[in-house]
Amino acid sequence: MRFVPRFTDGQAFPHALGKIVCVGRNYADHARELDNPVPSEPLLFIKPATSAVPLESTIEAPFSRGEVHYETELALLIGEELSHATTDEAERAVVGIGLALDLTLRDVQSRLKEKAHPWEIAKAFDGACPLSVFQPLAQVPNWSAISFTLEVDGELRQHGEGSEMLFPVASLVAEMSRHFTLQPGDVVLTGTPAGVGPLPRGAELRFTLTGGLEVVTRVVE
Ligand code: ZN
Repeated sequence: MRFVPRFTDGQAFPHALGKIVCVGRNYADHARELDNPVPSEPLLFIKPATSAVPLESTIEAPFSRGEVHYETELALLIGEELSHATTDEAERAVVGIGLALDLTLRDVQSRLKEKAHPWEIAKAFDGACPLSVFQPLAQVPNWSAISFTLEVDGELRQHGEGSEMLFPVASLVAEMSRHFTLQPGDVVLTGTPAGVGPLPRGAELRFTLTGGLEVVTRVVE
């Protein structure tokens, strides 16, 4: 079944979800917590549409394959085709903002990274991208004023600020469009701030985003 992005008022976006283009290490504090160097150009990867599930549903994860880390990220819904876009074109093409979990099989990823192998299976598996509904954008927002949080069982674990992104939204989306044509229904994940960790079974997750979005969900036991 194809995942169709939805807005907060329940309206379905007219295109099914396409690819999910992601960036690693877009917050210096997160790069440091994993002992990774801060990159000079964005480290891009793709999760397929088949990895998406609604964030509002109970979170299931392949716990039998090692530690599953949560990474809370600002998600951008793309409404227009973008290829080699300018920063102006890139930010005008964003029609909604929401939140996503970039679930990561950290043990599997670490083993693959050691061997310098591709790590798709650690990031692109079915269910690896719980995705919220999107708050519609009527105009380009002040990206640096956008913030989001994740609480796990009532404790603040992640707090992201648009102003702390190493590659801000407009230049990030423009750069992505130089490598991959972005199409209506594609989603961009903008990287995770510090505070990632293993997803605890049975935990309650509460997400908030500037503009009023709040999602409360639970991880399966
Ligand atoms: Zn991520």
